[in-house]
Amino acid sequence: MKLATRLLHAGRDRDPYTGASSVPIYQCSTFAQKDPEQRQPYDYSRSDNPTREALELAIADLEGGARGLAFASGMAATSTVLLLFKPGDHLIAGEDIYGGTYRVLTTIFKQWQLDVTFVDATDVEKIRAAIRPATRAIFVETPSNPLLKITDLAAVAQLAHEHNLLAITDNTFMTPVAQRPLELGFDIVVHSATKFISGHSDVVAGLAIARDATLGKQLKSLQNSFGAILGPQDAWLTLRGLKTLGVRFAAQQVTAERIARWLQSRAEVKQVFYPTLPGHPGRDIHVRQASGGGGAVVSFELAGGGAAAKALLKRVELMLPAVSLGGVESILSYPPMMSHAAMPRAERHARGINDGLVRLSVGLEDGDDLTADLAQALAPAG
Ligand SMILES: *Cc1c(COP(=O)(O)O)cnc(C)c1O
Repeated sequence: MKLATRLLHAGRDRDPYTGASSVPIYQCSTFAQKDPEQRQPYDYSRSDNPTREALELAIADLEGGARGLAFASGMAATSTVLLLFKPGDHLIAGEDIYGGTYRVLTTIFKQWQLDVTFVDATDVEKIRAAIRPATRAIFVETPSNPLLKITDLAAVAQLAHEHNLLAITDNTFMTPVAQRPLELGFDIVVHSATKFISGHSDVVAGLAIARDATLGKQLKSLQNSFGAILGPQDAWLTLRGLKTLGVRFAAQQVTAERIARWLQSRAEVKQVFYPTLPGHPGRDIHVRQASGGGGAVVSFELAGGGAAAKALLKRVELMLPAVSLGGVESILSYPPMMSHAAMPRAERHARGINDGLVRLSVGLEDGDDLTADLAQALAPAG
């Protein structure tokens, strides 16, 4: 079956007991045990819940993995995956991974003696150079946040396997509709399903998918032990979002590219960051490993610096000035004071996240209305 069909029918597309057209919200913590001596498929909702399981089966199918698991948030998914490692283990992570992942690695997991080296993941040789005897995994994200830098997924997977390391990636920005890292050799994919997968800015959820069954079993055991599971109501909302992910993401990518080009024509804009723009250094790699476009996030730096960026956020009328991304409504964020506020200014600037940088997550509005909103906010009349 093709992906567009699998978005609707992968896993369990109806209730096996009643035939209901959507899997019901099994809002229960426990299940009657008909015979204490016979194992049943469900006993307690932390371990297994039919609504969560429907989502887990669907995402495993879509990413092409042996097992999918749903968590209370993207950070719960990532943190549970990191529990695979032991004190003394070493990881290599891309220097522009999600801020929350950077924080959990440099605070909580650091206390547990998990050692991390952050490298420029656009250069596979820099990753190779960081490998030590204690290295166990490589964690990357492409396109990166907020500068949309590109990592060559197939090359990282190959490097990881040459050295017996796990290759892990956060696929939130592209979703399985446009990029499937397990097919390129990755071992684990994580998602903030809060973003494009649920897609309506109304749920916080996370997913992890393992390529092989052994790793899937290990992650399942960590999910059950640590307990940061997704509740049935939010699992249902995420499944509902998943059904329209294909059409939403396709439309959002097209509008995003249009807006990126429009921004390039504006004198107020110093630089536009978008993976499929001509001249983007990762363009060829991105086009090879992802389908349909450059994703639905565009970042741009204003010539007027921090003052201009803050003014833009205050003046937009249609766009939601907020953190987060991936919703049906366009969201305009200011990374220096939002997603990257925890990073010291000098560190931020060293990574190219300058004071004039804003990040736009393009929604489903008409592109003309979005550019009109940006135009009035960039150059207000009078
Ligand atoms: C938002 C986000 C996360 C964290 O997800 P939560 O659902 O907020 O915990 C992780 N990675 C990326 C790329 C994100 O955008």
